[in-house]
Amino acid sequence: MNKELDLLIEKCIEYIKASNNIYLASHIQPDGDNIGSLLALGRAIEKLNKNVHIIKVDNIPKDYQFLPNMHLFKELNTEKDIDLFIALDSGDIDRLGIAKDMALKAKKLINIDHHITNENFGDLNIVLPTASATGEIVYRIIKEMDVEMDEDISTCLYVAISTDTGSFMYDSTTKYTHLVAADLLSKDIDLNNIIVNIYQSRTLERTRLFIESLNTLDILKKGKIAIVKVTQDMLKTCRATLEDAEGIVSFIRDIENVEVACILKEVNKEEIKVSLRSKKKVDVSNISLRFNGGGHKRAAGCTIYDNIENAKKLILNEIYNVI
Ligand code: 5GP
Ligand code: MN
Repeated sequence: MNKELDLLIEKCIEYIKASNNIYLASHIQPDGDNIGSLLALGRAIEKLNKNVHIIKVDNIPKDYQFLPNMHLFKELNTEKDIDLFIALDSGDIDRLGIAKDMALKAKKLINIDHHITNENFGDLNIVLPTASATGEIVYRIIKEMDVEMDEDISTCLYVAISTDTGSFMYDSTTKYTHLVAADLLSKDIDLNNIIVNIYQSRTLERTRLFIESLNTLDILKKGKIAIVKVTQDMLKTCRATLEDAEGIVSFIRDIENVEVACILKEVNKEEIKVSLRSKKKVDVSNISLRFNGGGHKRAAGCTIYDNIENAKKLILNEIYNVI
């Protein structure tokens, strides 16, 4: 694998060096891995004196606004002359949302990801399911790029890896993950600033949403399943947004004896975003695949196009089959 990976990385850098107008894009509902990886690779490419644009496909959550080089994020434009488009952390091309057409129009498309469900939609695909985060793959690439791994780049990669491993707790975390983190920490990044911004800045609105949502907690199958809801009515009551639901599902996963945790987020009356987490045995990516979603063994998600009560029945049926 390593030889094959080295060749893919070499090819990726070749494509970058041969291009001038380089576009990257976030995915819909971007997370820390997506945003951190984009800003790190975007900045590294900028240091090679290329025109870099990171298309903002969706809102960037407040938690990540402190990251350096946010100026690289731009609104969608109608650029025709795209030498290279790089997708990061996107399992399928539809996750690029409004940037999908740009990706298809580009002369070359590189797809860098760690989701096992990745559809290999690029001209070049660097898909490494054993990587704890896309940030870990981007780290490997920048190391080979003749660009200094500076404090800004290191900060973004640290955020990508820390958030996507649940603070180095998921079983995707390896010895290599820690070696990468150690190298990033050696670049004098401000760890306290990262931790306070990402993990210790929950707004009051979000805290109220946690309380409302936890009030809907249902414990099933002798305590092995925990499920909660977030409805549009709750969001209104708490003056919160759906993004504010981040973290609730891992909180209920951490209840003693729970194996599968699930949150149902009402986007509208007929569209429910589902997030799943597991602790030891169940591969939740298999459950989300039943609804055309994806993800990892311990963290996955999908969308169910039905009302929230039916969505609950449908997802519970699938969980019962595997628990
Ligand atoms: P979260 O529950 O935090 O939204 O997502 C957990 C994991 O599942 C992430 O790795 C994310 O990429 C993946 N995921 C969540 N929702 C979807 C979805 O609708 N489709 C796919 N393919 N992956 C998803
Ligand atoms: Mn990721």
